[in-house]
Amino acid sequence: MDAAEFRRCGKQLIDFIADYIESLNGNRREAMPRVLPGYLRQRLPLRPPDQPETWERVMSDVEEHILSGTAHWLHPDFNAYFPIGISYASVLGDLLSSSFGVGFTWRSNPALTELERLMLDWLAEMMGMPAHFRNDSGIGGGALQGSASDCVLVSMLAARKEKLTQLIGKDAEPLPVSRLVAYCSQLAHPCVDKAAVICGVRLRRLGYDDENLALRCDLLESAVLEDRQLGLVPFYVCAVLGTTACASCDNLSDVGAVCHREQLWCHVDAAYSGGRPVDSFNFNPSKWLLCTFDASVLWVKSQSKLKDAFVSGPRASIPVDDAPISNPLEQICDLKDWGIPLSRRFRSLKLWFVIRLYGVEGLQRHIRLHCRLAQSFESQLLKDGRFQLAAKTRFSLVCFRFRDSDALSRLLVCRINQSRDLHLMPASVRDRYIIRYAIVRERAVEADVNRAIRVILKHADQLDGKFSN
Ligand code: PLP
Repeated sequence: MDAAEFRRCGKQLIDFIADYIESLNGNRREAMPRVLPGYLRQRLPLRPPDQPETWERVMSDVEEHILSGTAHWLHPDFNAYFPIGISYASVLGDLLSSSFGVGFTWRSNPALTELERLMLDWLAEMMGMPAHFRNDSGIGGGALQGSASDCVLVSMLAARKEKLTQLIGKDAEPLPVSRLVAYCSQLAHPCVDKAAVICGVRLRRLGYDDENLALRCDLLESAVLEDRQLGLVPFYVCAVLGTTACASCDNLSDVGAVCHREQLWCHVDAAYSGGRPVDSFNFNPSKWLLCTFDASVLWVKSQSKLKDAFVSGPRASIPVDDAPISNPLEQICDLKDWGIPLSRRFRSLKLWFVIRLYGVEGLQRHIRLHCRLAQSFESQLLKDGRFQLAAKTRFSLVCFRFRDSDALSRLLVCRINQSRDLHLMPASVRDRYIIRYAIVRERAVEADVNRAIRVILKHADQLDGKFSN
């Protein structure tokens, strides 16, 4: 493809993207595709083409085979999972980033390194983070990771390294990592289990209280004590602000106090919500901040502790940057030392585009609108006495039950999803089935909520009719 062809196809692609997104706003498609597993292998050639194909043929396959198998997260009837951070500004930032190279050291891409560090400081200010989490503090700082799961893993690796380093010298033998123990609530995301498996450490999931569904700190304290008595080494707690099931929040000051007393690394997974950090903290602009996936922020209180886990040994065959760099602050910032991969994309461009093109107030309006719509959904729903909240409504997620019955709530979700009137994703809290209604898309409006209420009540009436006959 040469530049002339790129211009021609690129302009078509921009039109295609806008037409696609507007077709969802206009409700001209269904939210969920009607395909079965393996559908694409039946439609596309199993071997790559030997000869070049035309752009037109590729795009016609996108329309026919890819769009028809895509879940449309921006569709007004898609109310599953969490908000999705797709905005036109972010799509443009992502497109631009794909035309630049990657970066790993400052010299390999100064603009990439410096914009990412600056954007993390902008976000720190927007979220009211303590000053020592800013990159310009030189104490703590932040970098982008691919996903919240990556952030949790990276923080656990840093905590593991810190604990092992502390213990060197106390024992004659190096400590087997399998004696380290991490803790989280039963409502924490499964990515904490995955991180523990990768780190080779134990994970204990602990109970949560009935009222706030927050990790019980009394259980945390006794688990730490028990484990020490067994000769194990507690080292890490993952608290959550905005659990995946129901957006509940652990009590950070209580968890933080236990961690401080017991010398445990306290990580906060706030993938959806945002909030306050302790030792390290992650949140996803790709959820609520109008940035397309992938963009996950990880902040740490101590950048040296993070880098200790990732600065690798000799650079072996990798070419070294040999010329001296005049700014020593930037010289030490090689983003490759802030996570697992060497190379990274220019992800901060989309953040920069979004924050500038919306302004902080525009982003605040977006978040407040989502919260208002969730409140409106809740109050309309509760006017019907058959429904009750399954958890306090937080952020833009409403969790509820139908006739306080697992069986009927499950049936209601099945009927609604099968009808394709809405797409909902349930969860389980306290072993009870709960229905989740999430405000997902940027351009959500009151009419979406009103329609969802009508759909839910219609299906509830049908179920009531069926069971009263
Ligand atoms: N943590 C929480 C609280 C989540 O809700 C999610 C996903 O929704 C994750 C972690 C995993 O996020 P990611 O897909 O960015 O790895």
